[in-house]
Amino acid sequence: MPAPENESDLDADALFMGEAMKQALRAYQAGEVPVGAVIVRHGRVIARAFNQVELLKDATAHAEMLALTMAEDSLGDWRLNGCTLYVTKEPCPMCAGAIVHCRLDRVVFAAPDAKGGAAGSALNLLQFPTLNHRCEVTGGVRGQECGDLLRAFFAERRASKQTSSPSRIPAPDPDDSSESPYPEADQN
Ligand SMILES: [Zn+2]
Repeated sequence: MPAPENESDLDADALFMGEAMKQALRAYQAGEVPVGAVIVRHGRVIARAFNQVELLKDATAHAEMLALTMAEDSLGDWRLNGCTLYVTKEPCPMCAGAIVHCRLDRVVFAAPDAKGGAAGSALNLLQFPTLNHRCEVTGGVRGQECGDLLRAFFAERRASKQTSSPSRIPAPDPDDSSESPYPEADQN
């Protein structure tokens, strides 16, 4: 992963990731796995979205997918050349595939996802040699904060499940994560 060229790039990345984090907090408040995304072009945010899998009852409603559609609408084009996506968690294979189709220049993510991340952790679809487009990738920007938010969400959800089902023996559920649209997040 190429490092940002200078201090101001680092500052800009942290700033825009902060915008993505605001979206992740909205997801958290809505009871969704807290992942948020923004898309930036020429220093301006053109799309903001948060994970809405439960709200829309749509497994494809990841923050990145919604943000891509919003950016396409904003530009009136499916080609998102010149755009950077900021997302609080490493994109999954579905989102990474969509990002490549939309030809984004660059992807900046916060928390890595060792099991399902498709931006270099589990696999690297964003820079897959035989695909017709490759993105610049920067990982770990505000990764601790965004990872903490995900861990807090899953800890809270596990706790509420145990208190809301008294007939069930309260024990860690190894399959709990399979219900999540971002299943690896609570394992970090
Ligand atoms: Zn995804």
